[in-house]
Amino acid sequence: MATIQWYPGHMNKAKNQLEDNLDLIDVLIEVLDARLPVSSRNPMIGQLTKKKPHIIILNKSDLADPIQTKKWTRYFQDEGNFVISMDAQHNTNMTSLFKIIKLAGKKKTEKLIAKGASNPMIRVAIAGIPNCGKSTIINRMVGRNAAIVGDKPGVTRGQSWLKTKTNVQILDTPGILWPKFSDQEVGYKLAACGAIKADVFHPDDVALFVIEFLKQNYQKDLAKFAQATSEELENMSNPDLLLAMTNKYGMRDDYDKFSLFMLQRLRKGKLGRITFDLR
Ligand code: GDP
Repeated sequence: MATIQWYPGHMNKAKNQLEDNLDLIDVLIEVLDARLPVSSRNPMIGQLTKKKPHIIILNKSDLADPIQTKKWTRYFQDEGNFVISMDAQHNTNMTSLFKIIKLAGKKKTEKLIAKGASNPMIRVAIAGIPNCGKSTIINRMVGRNAAIVGDKPGVTRGQSWLKTKTNVQILDTPGILWPKFSDQEVGYKLAACGAIKADVFHPDDVALFVIEFLKQNYQKDLAKFAQATSEELENMSNPDLLLAMTNKYGMRDDYDKFSLFMLQRLRKGKLGRITFDLR
C-alpha cells in the first residue's frame, strides 16, 4: 500500500473517521509494527478509544527482536490492553486472535446472551499506520469468507462488514492512522522500517542512522552484514563504514545505491531481527 504524508487536514479526517467508526464497533484492533511499538503508535489513540475494549497486535514480529517483543507485550498488557504478537505474512492461523477478540468482546456478548441471544456478533475495526499490515491481517481473518455482509440500515450506517468463520465481523475499511512523527529520530525509525516514504529523507542519512543504532544495540548483526570485526566497527566513523560497505558490496563509491540496498535488506529482516524502539 502507498504511504501517506500527514498534514493537519489528513489527521483531522482520519481522527473523525475513527471516531465515527468507534460508534459502530465493539472492539478496536490497533495494529502496531513490532519493530516500532512506540513510533508506529498513533499519539491520540489512547484518548480516542478509552471506552472501547482495545486489542494491540504487534505485527511483523518475525522481523522484530523476540526479547523486545516479549517486553513490549508485557508493557501493553500492564497498561490494560489485550495484546498479541504475530507474523501475519507467514502465519495464516488466526485462532489466537479470534480468542482474544472473544475475550475483549465478552462484556457485550454476555449481556446479549443474558437477553436470550444465541450467538451474538462481535464487530471489530482494524486501525494502524500505513504499511503495518492491516490489509494482510484482514485477509487472514476473512480467509475464504471474503463476502461482504449487506448493511442493515440504522445499525451499520452504510458501512460494510466482512464475515469471518466465527461470530466476528470486521469493518471492511481499515482505519488509517498517522504515526507519532514527533522528532527526527522517530522519522528515521519509520523510514528505516519502510513505514513512511523513503524520499522524506536521503537514503544515506537513514542508512547512517541505522548504522549508528545497530552499532549501539545490535553490533553483532552489523558486524556480520558489514563483514567486519567489532573492533573495526568501533574504530571507523559511520560515514567511513558506509563507504567501506559500499565498496565491499561491489558498488564502488555509490553510497546512495548501497544505502537503498542496505535498507531493503533491513526491511526484509536480512540484517537480523531488530527492534528500533527499545523497552
Ligand atoms: P497496510 O497498509 O497496513 O494495510 O499493510 P499491508 O497489509 O498492505 O502490508 C504491508 C506490507 O507488509 C506488505 O508487503 C505485507 O506483505 C507485509 N506484511 C504484513 N504483515 C507482515 C508480517 O507480519 N511480517 C512481514 N515480514 N511482513 C508483513
